[in-house]
Amino acid sequence: MEEDIHIPSHIKLLNDENLRLDGRKLDELRSIKLEVGVLSRADGSAYIEQGKSKILAAVYGPRELHPRHLAQPDEALLQCIYRMATFSVEERKSPAPSRRETELSKVITEALAPAVFLKYFPRASIDVYIQVIQADGGTRCSSITAASLALADAGIPLRDLVAACAAGKIDGKIALDLNDVEDKGGQADLPVAIMPRKNLTTLIQMDGFMTNEEFVQAYELAVKGCQKIYEMQREILIQKYINIQDEASEEEEETQNNGG
Ligand code: ADP
Repeated sequence: MEEDIHIPSHIKLLNDENLRLDGRKLDELRSIKLEVGVLSRADGSAYIEQGKSKILAAVYGPRELHPRHLAQPDEALLQCIYRMATFSVEERKSPAPSRRETELSKVITEALAPAVFLKYFPRASIDVYIQVIQADGGTRCSSITAASLALADAGIPLRDLVAACAAGKIDGKIALDLNDVEDKGGQADLPVAIMPRKNLTTLIQMDGFMTNEEFVQAYELAVKGCQKIYEMQREILIQKYINIQDEASEEEEETQNNGG
C-alpha cells in the first residue's frame, strides 16, 4: 500500500468480553450481501457488500483476445483487473493503477484460474473487471467471492465456485474477516480462498506475524468463513434460477390465457 495510514498502536481492538469494535465475536463474519446479474451489458456480473466494503465484478467473454499474440493455443487466458475507485477510501486515491492494484489483479487471477475450464476455449480471453467502490479491508477476498459469482453468472463452465475470506490476529487473538481498522491495528492478516467441493486452497497469503499454532488456527478459521460464504454464493445462484423459472412460467401462462 503506497499511502501510510496512521492507526495509533495503542488502539484497543477487543473489549474485556472479546468483542470487537463493531460488536462482532472473534469468529464472526461481517454482514454479507450478494447479488448476481446486476449489469445488463456484461456477460456476467455480481455485487458484494461485506461490512462496509462494496465491490462490483463484471465478466466479458469468452471473446477474441487482443493483442492476438497473447493468445494461448490450448486454453483461454483469464485476465482479472482489480481497481479501486478514487472515492473508495478516505483520502482520494489516484486514478492511476498502483502497484498494489497490479499485484492484487494477479493474485485474484491466480486464485480463480484453477476453478475455470480454460481448456474449453483455446485462444480466447475471459476478462473479469473488479471495481472496488468502497474499501474497508479484505477487498481481495470479497473480490474473489464476487468474481467467482460473476463467472458463474456468465455461464462459464466451472469446476467449483471460489469462496474467499481472511482471518488475522488482533490484540493477540485470532479473529475472522478483519475490517480496515483491524487490518491496520492488528498483528497479522491471512487471506484464504478455497474451492470447497474440491477441498482445494487457491490463495493463501500472510501479512504480519503469527506463531505456527496461530497460523494453523487462523487458517482453519478462514476456511470455516469461506465455507459459510460458499453457502451464500450457492443460495444466490439458486435463487437466480428460481426467479428465471418463475418468470418463464408466468410468461407461459400469459401466452396460454391470451389464446397463444
Ligand atoms: P485487502 O483489501 O485485500 O485487505 P490490503 O491489505 O492491501 O488489501 O488493504 C487493506 C485495506 O487498506 C483496504 O481494504 C482498504 O480499506 C485500505 N487501502 C488500500 N489501499 C488504500 C489507499 N490507497 N488509500 C487508503 N486506504 C487504502
